[in-house]
Amino acid sequence: MLMSQESHTSYITELICSNCQNTFGIHQLQNFSDCCHKPLLVRTTGRPLDRNEVLLNQNSMWRYQELLPLFDQSNRVSLGEGMTPMIRAGSIAKSLDIQIVWLKDEGTNPTGSFKARGMSMAVSKAKELGVDKCVVPTAGNAGVALSAYCAKAGMDSLILMPSHTPKIFQDECRYYGSEVVLVDGLIDECGMMVTQFEANGYFNMSTLKEPYRVEGKKTMGFEIAEQLDWVLPDVIIYPTGGGTGLIGMWKAFQEMIHLGWLSPDHLPRMVVVQSSACAPMVDFINGNTDNAPYGESKANGLAVPKAFGEDLIKKIVIESKGYALTVTEEELVKNALQLARLEGLSISPEGGAALAGLKKSIEQSLISLDDSILIINTGGSQKYMDNFRF
Ligand SMILES: *Cc1c(COP(=O)(O)O)cnc(C)c1O
Repeated sequence: MLMSQESHTSYITELICSNCQNTFGIHQLQNFSDCCHKPLLVRTTGRPLDRNEVLLNQNSMWRYQELLPLFDQSNRVSLGEGMTPMIRAGSIAKSLDIQIVWLKDEGTNPTGSFKARGMSMAVSKAKELGVDKCVVPTAGNAGVALSAYCAKAGMDSLILMPSHTPKIFQDECRYYGSEVVLVDGLIDECGMMVTQFEANGYFNMSTLKEPYRVEGKKTMGFEIAEQLDWVLPDVIIYPTGGGTGLIGMWKAFQEMIHLGWLSPDHLPRMVVVQSSACAPMVDFINGNTDNAPYGESKANGLAVPKAFGEDLIKKIVIESKGYALTVTEEELVKNALQLARLEGLSISPEGGAALAGLKKSIEQSLISLDDSILIINTGGSQKYMDNFRF
């Protein structure tokens, strides 16, 4: 049966090249833009939607389904992702003598990281567009998430992972039935191998080389607004790898302003934190050209030597009056443990990097002590015990 393209509930209208605004169709599979080789972003209509209506929907990221790009909800591939806890980190705030520290705990997502949001959306869309096998280069979590969502969708998945990735990530992909290929090098080397699998019919799910993972991550922005009663924090501190989460949150804020859900005069300053072991985005934003070599990090998700969406990330940091800084490997591990021990939360090294970034922001007077701060714990601690080395 041919479904009317007008019958869907989604607000999606087209895909646009993030560099030149060229438009692309939404009824066929797309990766990045042919014109500029840059990420494609979803554009939505300005149709009105009442924010209170959304609150009646189910308790997952799919409560925002009208603002997501799936046409037919029967294609939805969901494991219950999203609507993660927003926690007031009172002990941390007290120890730093600041008023408000919120922590969005993304480790409670299926497969233990916020990659679940992106993959739920992207695998649903891939299913809708007829894909039956996917490939992804990953530092760990994206691979595990893709494996689980492909299992649920009945699709094959192939995971390209640096050989130094903690073995538990490798094993968990296999556990869900994926094929895992280990690659010497970082995620960029894995990314270079993708084309050979694309030639064999695998759909490329790489960060921002596919337009819908960022739409899933965008739901984090909706939730932050909803959970803080439609008043955004002053500062959001985000441990950055490929930057999808940051781009997604900012996109959500813009969409909510457009819908009249949020006031345009109070947007958070967006802060990029990376490990000093691998800080290409910090270098790019701060204009450092004598780039140190980019190596491995105990925060595996941050070891991305080249972000495909670097222009978008930089633009958002500038537009939001944010900034970018590095923290050391020692600091990110130490701060994950401190958060765990003061708040009883399961914090990844990436989450530790966010807290270390907050401390550095205070030291360098980049924020004020009465700012409300949100740190994102992008994943749980369980798969990283080897990195904490007890
Ligand atoms: C992937 C990942 C990141 C980085 O996310 P991006 O959206 O690529 O910037 C941070 N933390 C964890 C735990 C991750 O898995």
